[in-house]
Amino acid sequence: MKPIVAIVGRPNVGKSTLFNNLVGDRVAIVDDMPGVTRDRLYRETEWNGTEFVVVDTGGLEPRNNDFMMTKIKQQAEVAMNEADVILFVVDGKCGVNPLDEEIAYILRKKNKPIILCVNKIDNFLEQQDDVYDFWALGFEHLIPISGGHKVNLGDMLDMVTDMIKKIDIPEEEEDVLKLAIIGKPNAGKSSLVNRLAGEERTIVSDIAGTTRDAIDTIVEFDEKKYMIIDTAGIRRKSKVEESLEYYSVLRAIKTIKRADVCLLMLDGKEGLSEQDKRIAGIAAEELKPIIVVVNKWDLVDKKSNTMEKMREKLYAELPFLSYAPIEFVSALTGQRTTKLLEIADTIFEEYNKRISTGILNTVLKEAVLMNNPPTRKGRVVKINYATQVSVAPPRFALFCNYPELIHFSYARYIENKFRESFGFEGSPILISFEKKNAEKE
Ligand code: GDP
Ligand code: GDP
Repeated sequence: MKPIVAIVGRPNVGKSTLFNNLVGDRVAIVDDMPGVTRDRLYRETEWNGTEFVVVDTGGLEPRNNDFMMTKIKQQAEVAMNEADVILFVVDGKCGVNPLDEEIAYILRKKNKPIILCVNKIDNFLEQQDDVYDFWALGFEHLIPISGGHKVNLGDMLDMVTDMIKKIDIPEEEEDVLKLAIIGKPNAGKSSLVNRLAGEERTIVSDIAGTTRDAIDTIVEFDEKKYMIIDTAGIRRKSKVEESLEYYSVLRAIKTIKRADVCLLMLDGKEGLSEQDKRIAGIAAEELKPIIVVVNKWDLVDKKSNTMEKMREKLYAELPFLSYAPIEFVSALTGQRTTKLLEIADTIFEEYNKRISTGILNTVLKEAVLMNNPPTRKGRVVKINYATQVSVAPPRFALFCNYPELIHFSYARYIENKFRESFGFEGSPILISFEKKNAEKE
């Protein structure tokens, strides 16, 4: 589980600029997949070998001052609860602003590692005096930076990684399947947890007391243990926080990263919302096995093919989740809820499945025979052979003479052929084309 570094501050202090410069131009894997909501607020990055996730609090629409104040305070509260390290950004050219003081007041309430980044200090010698004023905000760690001109960002990142090294991030338990139930508020997530925990009558306990205030619930079914992670996040019902896009994204990232299998829960009465798509996009981007769970099925008016129609519609709306099974349940009545656990087991096995090189290459050969990679720029692309380089997620390397000429759609074709033969239901798979002589004999 990678630590989370959140950037907070009032509008226009340079948060987005800093974010972009910290994460570079890392492109997320699903960025070129159709249907994924693109306004990513977070990226993984690393500094001198320490990996972490940077989260931007996202743009605030300046409406009126009261509204702004409320929103900013909420963001600061959320960062306080969810982040491991906070970068509190202020505008060094403008001096201390009343909004900065408000934020500082919230941030000082807990003992979280905070770095006060006095930004837009493009020239320290000329702007020294501007920086000193900010000590008045009362933070131990202050650093002048210029996010725009990349001044002092290295020193700032050193501070971040020093702080990260001191955080006690709990080790994950290994012998249970960790399930994340994700989805927008009111989809029925807590009802499902209660149903699974209650119905099987073997709720062991809530494991509390980690530094990240996550509460995990153990459920036992068919003599097997499952851990539903972050039920604290699921149960947290504060409408103020939940209404924040940023909050749900942040919580979802943390939960998804810890999970072995994600259950994306939708409200079957309602259609798919933008928030659902966004959360689905995160799970896909994290390359986790996923089950799409359509809940409240008891409320849906069912005709003979309602289920099939709904399935088709969902796959059309979530094209990047074409591999995910879609299940229809009712957390209220318990209809098909335990089946979710069985499916979770199965798709986690798929996620960890290894295909022998011999069989893989038979399938590859047939696929290429049926549909050769298109000749491009007068060059003939020849695919020589494939090998599975990893599991969880399954990753395949295909060796060929001109990997750069292979189009995304051809990779898709190969993926589909592999899926036809090997299944991998519920699991993302990755296919990369490598230069032939890169292979080791
Ligand atoms: P946000 O609202 O906090 O995300 O702020 P932005 O990143 O959108 O930046 C607000 C404005 O400040 C933009 O016009 C940026 O070009 C400018 N800005 C950002 N960082 C710096 C910096 O390090 N130095 C200077 N001089 N301007 C900056
Ligand atoms: P959460 O915010 O995702 O945890 O959602 P809750 O579990 O709190 O459920 C929100 C509301 O939907 C509650 O009033 C539940 O009783 C109701 N609900 C949840 N699951 C079902 C279901 O399968 N069928 C029906 N009819 N109502 C449900």
